[in-house]
Amino acid sequence: MSIVGSSEFNGNTETVNRQVGTIIELDSVSKTYLHSHHALLNVNLQVQKGEFLFITGASGSGKSTLLKMLYGAELPTQGKVIVDNINVATLENYSLSLLRRRIGIVFQDYKLIPQRTVAENVTFVLQAQGYTRKEIQRRLEPTLKLVGLLSKADRFPDQLSGGEQQRVSIARAIVGTPPLLLADEPTGNLDPDNSWQVIQIFQKLNSFGATVIITTHDEQLSR
Ligand code: ADP
Ligand code: MG
Repeated sequence: MSIVGSSEFNGNTETVNRQVGTIIELDSVSKTYLHSHHALLNVNLQVQKGEFLFITGASGSGKSTLLKMLYGAELPTQGKVIVDNINVATLENYSLSLLRRRIGIVFQDYKLIPQRTVAENVTFVLQAQGYTRKEIQRRLEPTLKLVGLLSKADRFPDQLSGGEQQRVSIARAIVGTPPLLLADEPTGNLDPDNSWQVIQIFQKLNSFGATVIITTHDEQLSR
């Protein structure tokens, strides 16, 4: 597994609200699943706020495991995982849910709710978090616009292409404006054109100040 940063994006001087400091730190992290070999062995990593990183590696090299530890879906067997100055392993359920509000997550398989429209898929998390109807409306339009789906707000997922569905899932991940975006093989089911669109959206979000980490087994894409 290897990690490729992109100083091109870090060097963007037009960025607003660029924050400084460390957002992620992995300190001698190993992960062993039950009845399994090491998924990760002694990983050290520091990510600065505002970075744009690709994590590349073959299937089975531990990319998903690494991301899962960042949002607390898996705990390290050894070592420390610090996100936003918090040791993820020490969090109780409630604090973990608060941390997760500060992390947008995008998956390879979109995970949209088929019976809900694009707009509903994007906003239901905000509803669950108690945002007011007015605040939700205020956030919905610019978010859909950013992913190029404003005109499809009332469609259902099965009326969209794969690329559009992935852009809905990105909208859902960013509508709460989290400072950290994690995407696990977000282009894994997409053709090159749609993959590139998705990467460009992440670049734009990075230029607005978000820290972005994308895993891929496609080295060409990260280049
Ligand atoms: P990648 O995302 O790079 O394909 P993963 O993080 O999914 O890699 O998996 C890394 C290793 O951990 C693999 O050997 C995989 O079989 C193993 N693994 C992943 N999840 C589990 C699990 N829940 N239980 C047991 N082994 C797992
Ligand atoms: Mg994976």
